[in-house]
Amino acid sequence: MECAGVGLHSGAPVHLRILPARAGSGIVFHRVDLDGFEVEAISRNVARVSYATSLMKKGVLISTTEHLLSAFIGTGIDNAIVELDNLELPILDGSARPFVELIQQAGIRKQRRPRSYLRIRRALEMREGNKFIAVYPAETYSVSYTINFPHPLIGKETFSVELANGNYLREIASARTFGSREDEQALRDMGLIRGASRDNCVVLTRDGVENPPLRFRDEFVRHKVLDLIGDLALLGKRILGNVVADRAGHAMHTALVSRLLRDRTLWEETTVEDERDHVPLSIQAVAGQLA
Ligand SMILES: [Zn+2]
Repeated sequence: MECAGVGLHSGAPVHLRILPARAGSGIVFHRVDLDGFEVEAISRNVARVSYATSLMKKGVLISTTEHLLSAFIGTGIDNAIVELDNLELPILDGSARPFVELIQQAGIRKQRRPRSYLRIRRALEMREGNKFIAVYPAETYSVSYTINFPHPLIGKETFSVELANGNYLREIASARTFGSREDEQALRDMGLIRGASRDNCVVLTRDGVENPPLRFRDEFVRHKVLDLIGDLALLGKRILGNVVADRAGHAMHTALVSRLLRDRTLWEETTVEDERDHVPLSIQAVAGQLA
């Protein structure tokens, strides 16, 4: 499967491939159009956060990282190199499913050493107007998201999921990003959605959906869970904790990450006793194609 497409925000054409990486290296982007310049997928490199999360290092941008990083968490991949030949990841169908398929097609390989986790020890709550995000101690990784969107098909929706037993692949991976026809022109005028089309997002009209069917009745809130998981991947480690968000967005997701990393009393680094399911994973072979 070739992985090529356009960036949602820039409209830039891009090819992408995923390569195996050694244990402990994390997720690292390589800009092959800029002599392979490396940008690590970690909080320190978070640059600009508005409609998407972007990384920047020494002026080199990697934009809209959240869907691929979410797919890595969902498939258990800890270490990988992501090569791309432009500044924004492809939006594909607007969900994480094409990335998950790419990873599964390449195969997943166990690596020999215990996986280290970031175990939450104390609650952290952040509020901004009516927006809220928090993380609480727990023995597993779970996420709960609430949105309140003034649209007849949405309104107030909450979705909660524990990231175990294939839940991510079944419940989250295929939820697509969405936008409304009403906001479209303003966003286009600002140059924010040059790559948007009916093939890569759910388009809301005043009282319905322009490109049905939805993949889930509550696809919107599920996509917010997908985004949150992708943004929290910038911690660089898997979380053992319960994350709760209400009307948050990329800016609050990444603010939670940097607050957590700054305060070492909130968490501890740990390994899990039963090692069978707790070793780091990378992919088996090269996935995708750079034309
Ligand atoms: Zn998204």
